[in-house]
Amino acid sequence: MSLSLSAEQPAVPDVADDGVWLECIECGETFAPFDDVRYTCDECDGLLEVRYDDLPTFDDFEGHGVWRYADALPFESGVSIQEGSTPLYEVPRLEDEVGVEALRIKHEGMNPTGSFKDRGMTVGVKVAKELGVGRLACASTGNTSAALAAYGTRGSMETLVLLPAGKVAAGKIAQASLHDARILEVDGNFDACLDIVQELAAKGEVYLLNSLNPFRLEGQKTIGLEILEGFLTDYDTVPDRIVLPVGNAGNTSALYKAFRELVQAGELAEDDVPKLTGVQAEGAAPMVEAIQNGADEVRRWDDVETRATAIRIGNPVNAPKALPGIRETDGTAVAVSDEEITDAQRALAREGIGVEPASAASLAGLRKLRVNGVVDDDERVACLTTGHLLKDPDAAAAAGGDPEPVPADTADILEHLKQ
Ligand SMILES: *Cc1c(COP(=O)(O)O)cnc(C)c1O
Ligand SMILES: [Zn+2]
Repeated sequence: MSLSLSAEQPAVPDVADDGVWLECIECGETFAPFDDVRYTCDECDGLLEVRYDDLPTFDDFEGHGVWRYADALPFESGVSIQEGSTPLYEVPRLEDEVGVEALRIKHEGMNPTGSFKDRGMTVGVKVAKELGVGRLACASTGNTSAALAAYGTRGSMETLVLLPAGKVAAGKIAQASLHDARILEVDGNFDACLDIVQELAAKGEVYLLNSLNPFRLEGQKTIGLEILEGFLTDYDTVPDRIVLPVGNAGNTSALYKAFRELVQAGELAEDDVPKLTGVQAEGAAPMVEAIQNGADEVRRWDDVETRATAIRIGNPVNAPKALPGIRETDGTAVAVSDEEITDAQRALAREGIGVEPASAASLAGLRKLRVNGVVDDDERVACLTTGHLLKDPDAAAAAGGDPEPVPADTADILEHLKQ
């Protein structure tokens, strides 16, 4: 199977361009990477992956940000706003509370537009320029649209975003709007928006930059590479486990691909690959259902609800890439309640780390798996926090305490503070 950890490096097909090609994960058909616009396999509609004749080693990486990892990417540089090189915070109090050997928080909210989506867009928008397409588009629960708007305008391209009406956090719409995207508010949920934008893309109206686009996942691989390098520097070993929120499962797929490529290059032992551990909200947990039932396919959930709007997704498009990733790394998936998510958001905030609700799902999931005994006390763990607190100011205000009204008078305020 092409997605197994022990898969051999495939032979370079004739269609390869400078050692890069696209390959279907289902039937193995190969395609030239930049000749035509293509998101899925012509033969079987399966998901595509980018392949390279030359796999990177740690020694190849130099410089800063996403493009430090150019040797693991299809280009030397992209349309950049200095994405990547995000902090890998120590959290000693949380580490004690959760009870693991080491806990670090990889805070992707510290990217230029405040989420990891920037890492995918720096590569994806570069590919769009390479292909010479006119208009960029995505369906989004918010962060993809903010990132695409910023990278699109940075690359002097027109951007169209489809958002589920009433279900996108305020900060994200504000970003998409100010970065000059045309915003369509669709009377339907995210999955409906994605169906429509895929149809627009199939008609050649737009270039699709959802995580169905295999090039975006290439950029997102760099999260995994940064975490590995960070742990190697600080602990002299890679983490035992990476816990991350799951929506369309693009990150889960991207991290797995990064690790697979390092294994194929002989840079990482198969036994050392971190256990990929996905967390979903109880009201939108089709991946968790599939993992727990041992199913080969994910059942689409038509009605999804959670205050973690960034992962309010019922039909994770990258499931065929992510399910093998979770299974082959001996990971797992777990669902958490909205209350557990908000609790974790508060706990991270008390460490000075401001994240949006979906991001806090990772810590909430880790806590639950420690209580269940799935995660051992001797594990070194990285939790991924995917987006910044200011993305969803309403959720942050609701999770925090209320301001206290006082008169503009020092004596009154001193009196008030005694209460
Ligand atoms: C996009 C997003 C996710 C979901 O990531 P997938 O790669 O689709 O699983 C999680 N959290 C935040 C903040 C996001 O913006
Ligand atoms: Zn195919």
